[in-house]
Amino acid sequence: MPMNADQIRKRLEFYQDLGIKTIYKQSRADPLVRTGPPGPVVGATTKSTPAPSPEPPLPPLAPENDTLFQILTDIGDCHRCRLSEGRNKIVFGVGSGQAPLVFVGEGPGADEDQQGIPFVGRAGQLLTQMIEGTAKKEGIPLLRADIYICNVVKCRPPENRTPEPDEMETCGQFLYRQLSAIHPKAICALGGTAARAVTGHKEGVTKMRGRWFQWKDIPVMVTYHPSYLLRPYNQEAKKEAWEDLKKVLHFVYD
Ligand code: URA
Repeated sequence: MPMNADQIRKRLEFYQDLGIKTIYKQSRADPLVRTGPPGPVVGATTKSTPAPSPEPPLPPLAPENDTLFQILTDIGDCHRCRLSEGRNKIVFGVGSGQAPLVFVGEGPGADEDQQGIPFVGRAGQLLTQMIEGTAKKEGIPLLRADIYICNVVKCRPPENRTPEPDEMETCGQFLYRQLSAIHPKAICALGGTAARAVTGHKEGVTKMRGRWFQWKDIPVMVTYHPSYLLRPYNQEAKKEAWEDLKKVLHFVYD
């Protein structure tokens, strides 16, 4: 059913809240949009090789009663951006769909790309140690399995480079749907890329860490990325990251 002007405005505001700034109008002549019964694609000859299958059509963003399973299904065998070219596995996310706390990293590394699970390499081991160790010290019974962990982009960037803005925008819609579906009590953004993607603020991570921001109605704590903390010359930052983690854990679990 066509939407009226008010409904369109509300929908666009919703997209804007999700951080989506570019919207494409699908042309009626688009051969991937079939409105009638299946038939030959205009302009295609019967001899030509089959057209590549289109990505599964996306439902309106954050559909009602959205679930992690539905989001994963919508991602499908994604080829929406160039990161798909070099990936082994899509790294969707891990943990409880009811988690009160979600950690967001930048993008999968080599180990994550092999296993399809976020934060399982060296940085991941440090993250697990930090979460479980800090919780234990603070008297909070918490294991990594009790929280949810995901990344801004779901495919490994080549040579672990920072994801490009268009890659973040394309994949960001799935991150935002994950955050909406889980609706945790707080989000912890790990490193500058995640912090910028989730908060929309453009400052460097050293300025943002330890402070509360907001994604929609959910408080966001920013801290250093564990890969940064692995470097021997960043040991001072480790203490700060521990403080940030304490703040977020007490906020969520006290
Ligand atoms: N770094 C990230 O940002 N995410 C991972 O999953 C692993 C390393």
